[in-house]
Order: sequence, then structure tokens, then C-alpha cells
Amino acid sequence: MSETIFSKIIDREIPADIIYEDDQCLAFRDINPQAPTHFLVIPKKPIPKLSDAGGEDKELLGHLLLVAGQVAGEEGLEDFRLNVNNGAGASQTVFHLHVHVLGGRSFSWPPG
Ligand code: AMP
Repeated sequence: MSETIFSKIIDREIPADIIYEDDQCLAFRDINPQAPTHFLVIPKKPIPKLSDAGGEDKELLGHLLLVAGQVAGEEGLEDFRLNVNNGAGASQTVFHLHVHVLGGRSFSWPPG
């Protein structure tokens, strides 16, 4: 997989406001926040998009969700929205799997 801006953040080649890290994943604040709190949870494994994940990633994907919820709690969020854009047609722009976590405002449904 080619290098992305997120692999550069993992490798500390470019700066980011990192708020959580473990051996499997990283969470950092989105540079263009769409809510008062907006951070991204990414695996260190370079999976381009959710549909590229396989059965071997089952535990990793669960871990990303647990970390998203844990860090949201640490950020003081009770209600929050998770979003995963899969593919350019779904507004994915960075092809390294990431879970958006947004909170601090109300959200409408369905999303735009
Ligand atoms: P997506 O459209 O789902 O691929 O989301 C990519 C997200 O990455 C967008 O919300 C961007 O604002 C965010 N982003 C891009 N570059 C950076 C960066 N250097 N640091 C933090 N967030 C970034």
C-alpha cells in the first residue's frame, strides 16, 4: 500500500494532536473538525478502507470501536457519532482506514 498522510502521522513524519496510542492503533484530532470534538481512530496496520479488511482483522476492528468509545468518554462525550467513509463515492479522501468520532453538538438523521 502506498504511503498516506496517516501513515506519516503513525511514523511521526508529520505532526498531529495525538490523544491516544497503543500497539494497534492511534487516535488524533481531525485537522478540519466538523463538530466541537472530532477525532479519528486509525489502525497502525495500513488497511486502505473497511472493505479491504478481512477475517484476520476481526479483533483489530473491534479494538478500534472500543478505543473510539473509550476516548470519547475521556473527552467527556456521552452522545457521539461514529462514521466510516468507505471509498471515494462515500467521501473517503484518505485511504487508510479511519473511524471518525464526532461529538459536542446534535446530529441529524439521515446523514448527508
Ligand atoms: P475521510 O473523508 O473520511 O477520508 O476523512 C479524512 C479526514 O482526515 C478528514 O476529516 C480530514 O480533515 C482529516 N485529515 C486530513 N489530514 C489530516 C491531518 N494531517 N491531521 C488530522 N486530520 C487530517
